[in-house]
Amino acid sequence: MKDGRLIDVSLSISPIRDTNGKIIGVSQIARDISERKRDEIRKNDFIGMVSHELKTPLTSLTAIMQVLHKKLNNTDDRFVPDALARANQQLKRMGNLINGFLNVSRLESGKIVIEKRLFIMEDLIKEVIAEINLTGATHMIELPRCDKVEVFADRDKINSVVTNLLSNAIKYSPKASQITITCEQTQEELLVSVNDEGLGMKADDCERIFDRYHRVESDDTRHISGFGIGLYLSAEIVKRHDGRIWAESELSKGSTFYFSLPLG
Ligand code: ADP
Repeated sequence: MKDGRLIDVSLSISPIRDTNGKIIGVSQIARDISERKRDEIRKNDFIGMVSHELKTPLTSLTAIMQVLHKKLNNTDDRFVPDALARANQQLKRMGNLINGFLNVSRLESGKIVIEKRLFIMEDLIKEVIAEINLTGATHMIELPRCDKVEVFADRDKINSVVTNLLSNAIKYSPKASQITITCEQTQEELLVSVNDEGLGMKADDCERIFDRYHRVESDDTRHISGFGIGLYLSAEIVKRHDGRIWAESELSKGSTFYFSLPLG
């Protein structure tokens, strides 16, 4: 600004051509987007605050449910243990959603820290599969190839990437279909792939699904709940490890999601 203040702008640059179509200059339009940026920050702070507040009652509720589960597990009424297990599953889902929003808000305000340590990817993948099978196995999850390699990465955050890719494979494919996860060492990277035989998507959706809040709009996906933040968070986590993440897919045939982490 004239008074020396710095502001955020969005810049459009277009070519100016002469009558022969030769570029003879450029025109620039700068728009002040400070208010839009402030709105973003306010929205993020609000999402962060609400998610944080929602966690407290949810944590107590989960603890109460666990005690109740223990106390009523041997009751004669067969409805009770089943209902409690389903209630627990829903609580877990709600917890995951709230954590997702909390992480988006942390990420955007630069509060996500990557804490790297050495671990074996195979152990992590097996843990995630076991955890998913525990909450009701609806699909066949196969792990035909998993190279035993140590990676230097943030274990918890990579856990959430693998969990997200596997949960999506389950969410977006028919019950009892197969999901295949592999983990291969190449020269410089460790490459993890998650394949499903589900809905799939068009090629241009394969890029956009990593954008914040982006979901594929179709008659098949409309009834599947979600907010489009899982892949956005996963992509950010992988990028902060200097890794790559992408998807290959064919409509109605299935999808394969890949992510890689640099080695050594
Ligand atoms: P959510 O599943 O909550 O919508 P994600 O960020 O995890 O959020 O996924 C974004 C979108 O990408 C989903 O809404 C879905 O349209 C698409 N998608 C993700 N994984 C798959 C998959 N395995 N098969 C087909 N579509 C998928």
